Amino acid sequence: MIAIIGAGVSGLSCAWWLQRQGMAVRVFEAAERVGGKVSTLAADALCEQGPNMLLLDEELQQWLAELGLSPLWPEQGSGLRHVLRSGRYRPLPAGPWQLLAGSFLSWPAKWALLRGLLRPGSPKEAEASLAEFCRRRFGQEVLDKLLDPLAGGVFAGDPEELALEETLPRLARAAAQPLPLWRGLWRQRTARARMCTLQGGLQQLPQRLARDLDVRLGAPVTALRRDGEGWRLRTREGWTRAERVVLALPADAAAELLHPLAPEMADICRRIPYAPLAVVSTLLDGEAMDRPLPGYGALHPSGEGALTLGHLTVSNIYP
Ligand SMILES: Cc1cc2nc3c(=O)[nH]c(=O)nc-3n(C[C@H](O)[C@H](O)[C@H](O)COP(=O)(O)OP(=O)(O)OC[C@H]3O[C@@H](n4cnc5c(N)ncnc54)[C@H](O)[C@@H]3O)c2cc1C
Repeated sequence: MIAIIGAGVSGLSCAWWLQRQGMAVRVFEAAERVGGKVSTLAADALCEQGPNMLLLDEELQQWLAELGLSPLWPEQGSGLRHVLRSGRYRPLPAGPWQLLAGSFLSWPAKWALLRGLLRPGSPKEAEASLAEFCRRRFGQEVLDKLLDPLAGGVFAGDPEELALEETLPRLARAAAQPLPLWRGLWRQRTARARMCTLQGGLQQLPQRLARDLDVRLGAPVTALRRDGEGWRLRTREGWTRAERVVLALPADAAAELLHPLAPEMADICRRIPYAPLAVVSTLLDGEAMDRPLPGYGALHPSGEGALTLGHLTVSNIYP
């Protein structure tokens, strides 16, 4: 038996694929529900308490169809984002060419953006942090007005600390080539993945996967030991034997289990920083809003001193 520890989407999809290849798997989950960070709250409307979006490519779409899950596509024309600037929302241009044509950036920043797109890259450049890369290539204004809110909205992180290669791998690959950046980006264009959610909310995915699997809920694994060629793991019910073990856990929880076996690895896991984040869902009567914001939602650059990283207007995206 292969023991998978953690019934978030990572653990469940790993278990599902292993089982499909004929292996015996059992999933151990500390909580009384599956899904981990993925959690849909069915109040008067569906509210996602964790992730909101699936980036769906063809392969993932096929898998969802096989599972009997239906994607729910965003409403046409709901893609417009806003960015907070001096206390007011401004529409975010959809791409580099729209940025160059509109008034979102000053003329010097547009010029820096254009020069940055035309300049060839080098492998060293791709090793930079997101902020360092953007500052050197496009200048401070593009970093402050564009990249900072995007990094905050997507990764809840500080662009000075986020690695370009890890967060925007396509841009990093383009920047590593001795070609003008726009050509590097053009070469890598692939069939575009599309954003969606699932009918009934994202929690449908872990719940559907769990239906086919042997999942033990309320079963935190508190210790892991070597046992000859295999492993033993301790839950409330005592010790269980497994041939292989998969840790599908947040890094700090993995560190606890790894510490007696591989202290160095445990130390690396402990040092992985996680962004503290709270998700607040607000249900409003649309008619009570004087000036409803059209489109997808808004991003708040850190320099604006706003309380939140931004918001999604979910009812515009999925009416
Ligand atoms: C607010 C928010 C928004 C996000 N938005 C998106 C998005 O839009 N799109 C996207 O793709 N990603 C998004 N993400 C990221 C995505 O949610 C996570 O990457 C993903 O859900 C992590 O899944 P996981 O299975 O790796 O870990 P988790 O979901 O953390 O699952 C780990 C599981 O392990 C269990 N566990 C812990 N310790 C033990 C133990 N000792 N024994 C047994 N079980 C244990 C936990 O209870 C949990 O169920 C978002 C994340 C957050 C927080």
